[in-house]
Amino acid sequence: MKLIKTTLFALAITVILTGCHNHQHGAESEQKATSAFPKGEKITNDNFAGTAYLHMMGASDTSLHVSFGNVTFEPKARTNWHSHPGGQLLFITEGKGYYQAKGEPAQLIKKGDYVEIPRNVVHWHGAAPDSEFAHIAVSLNTDDGGAVWIGPVTDEEYHQSTK
Ligand code: MN
Repeated sequence: MKLIKTTLFALAITVILTGCHNHQHGAESEQKATSAFPKGEKITNDNFAGTAYLHMMGASDTSLHVSFGNVTFEPKARTNWHSHPGGQLLFITEGKGYYQAKGEPAQLIKKGDYVEIPRNVVHWHGAAPDSEFAHIAVSLNTDDGGAVWIGPVTDEEYHQSTK
């Protein structure tokens, strides 16, 4: 009986240790991921500079008048200057980047920050020169129209804003 108990105890310890090992391995894998959300597909349109990825997440219910997705930027990647007729929210999920409204200093934004972008304010958002960056972008009041794209954030503008 004692032997059985000892064997069961050893087995239980083995299970616990194995479980812990697997758990840690999982945690490490998650930390290596770029974001809490899928990276999605590489953005190929001309409204972005550098390498960025988009994973659209919604909304399937058009009566909500929102659309949202996860955007991941490699270092230096950014949007062009643009505005949103219905406004936009950004929730930063990874890394460091910048938000700049036209005529204002750029704001350094990092994981855990959020940005509330008023209707029709011309702006850009993107990664810092030395950091990958990801945010959930929520476009609001989409029945008022999609993003209005203006033109590239030049290298000079980017370097001025991010130095
Ligand atoms: Mn925007």
